[in-house]
Amino acid sequence: MTAPATQFKAAAKTLAADLRHRSLIQTALGKYEVKRDEMKARFQDWEGARQVAADIKFEAINHLDRYLEQFVARIEARGTKVHWASTAEQARQIIVGICRDRQARRIVKSKAMTAEEIHLNQALEQAGFKVVESDLGEFIVQLRDEAPYHIVFPAMHLTRGEIKDLFDRKLGDAPSDNPEVLTMVASRVLRQEYVAADVGITGANFAVAETGMISVTENEGNARLTAALPKTMITLVGIEKIVPTLADLALFLPMLATAGAGQLLSGYNTLYGGPRQPGEADGPEAFHVVLLDNQRTALLADAEQRDALHCIRCGACLNVCPIFRNVGGQTYGTTYPGPIGSVITPHLRGLQEWKHLPFASSLCGACSEVCPVKIDLHHHLLQHRRTARAAKPVWWEKLAFRGFALLVNTPWLWRLSLAVGRVGQRFHGLVKGTKLDPAYVWTQSREAPALAGQSFKAWWRERGRGTTDHGGTGPRDRRPGTRDQGPRVTSHESSRNDPGVATKGGTAHE
Ligand code: SF4
Repeated sequence: MTAPATQFKAAAKTLAADLRHRSLIQTALGKYEVKRDEMKARFQDWEGARQVAADIKFEAINHLDRYLEQFVARIEARGTKVHWASTAEQARQIIVGICRDRQARRIVKSKAMTAEEIHLNQALEQAGFKVVESDLGEFIVQLRDEAPYHIVFPAMHLTRGEIKDLFDRKLGDAPSDNPEVLTMVASRVLRQEYVAADVGITGANFAVAETGMISVTENEGNARLTAALPKTMITLVGIEKIVPTLADLALFLPMLATAGAGQLLSGYNTLYGGPRQPGEADGPEAFHVVLLDNQRTALLADAEQRDALHCIRCGACLNVCPIFRNVGGQTYGTTYPGPIGSVITPHLRGLQEWKHLPFASSLCGACSEVCPVKIDLHHHLLQHRRTARAAKPVWWEKLAFRGFALLVNTPWLWRLSLAVGRVGQRFHGLVKGTKLDPAYVWTQSREAPALAGQSFKAWWRERGRGTTDHGGTGPRDRRPGTRDQGPRVTSHESSRNDPGVATKGGTAHE
């Protein structure tokens, strides 16, 4: 097992058993679901809107080269410097280089998952800069020195009391756990940072090719201050954030707010088209856009999974995922947790090392159902499983499946195993849940279902001796050429032993 897989399993086991954590997350997401459904109902046709959004992203991603060139030409024409970064390392070097050139010392940063992806804060701090997160949730997790819990709600795992204690410890100032008071405490600190900062770093929700503009969506106004007050602004954008036209935002902005936070529209939606122009009252003197690839073009080359690049990072798939809701975001050990994280992390960081994530799914399909841009997430998880196993088969799994095939294809062996199982389960209680239990992997956290005292086939034979309860006749009463109206037996065992019974060649159901 790889190190990330070991870490994931250990953390998942602890958190899944943490009832307080689970109830906190369920409560928060329960409220979100109510608001999200209310806002979805405000769309005339939510399903139609999803289809249009998927079509727009399909067009953008399938002609990414053309739209990126258009975006760069338009935004550079207004004095923005665009940088291309193939890797996370290159992106870090470019941003550290800009900060050095501008002789910066203090940096303020608004929420940007791409920055988390390339571990930008660590690189800037190692280079000697002071970096402060300006989004309240990010500010809180930065004070705790931990990664965001969720791509939209970074501090959703914390209670007001925990945040109050944190502010008391780190800022020496938290008179109460009232959310408004806590927000004011953070604002007081952050306002000084905006004024003192030499560089502001933001992410981007969309990059509009038609007009060469960056679209940033937020609820606190902190990204606006991050962009407007420091003399230099740097925006780090994943290349997949392109949308073809400005009009596309009329769909994507409400859709992002609805799916992501249960809002009709986020509090602030701002477009940045370049540095301060002559005659303008505010804005940065210098504006740099860093376009980040970091394996996105490799994903683009994968025709089967390319649509994972359609993601608008709304977080809706995390919110409905039964795994995420039980093990939490930090357990994943990745920048992007939940279903979308389990799809793209193997592309960003390597399938063999991260293949445990696609396996950590119930494949219920809830993620695909809520995704506003209709990414077929659970099929991508299956695809990862297939690719991972084909590239590196696990010998004991192959052996186990061969053994199982032999068992269900050999009636006497199947009957024998059931007989042994029925005797064995009488003594199972003695070792259940201990390491001596042959089914320990299952029973350490779940109940093993008991084998039925009688097989379906035996029950059916017995029932066929007399008249059925509903007044019909049992199997023995069937005349040649008539079809049995009772339950259909689809067992392999039955197909071999009872040629008259309709079969589909499946495995035996007991
Ligand atoms: S995959 Fe879909 S639901 Fe999940 S974050 Fe991306 S856009 Fe939202």
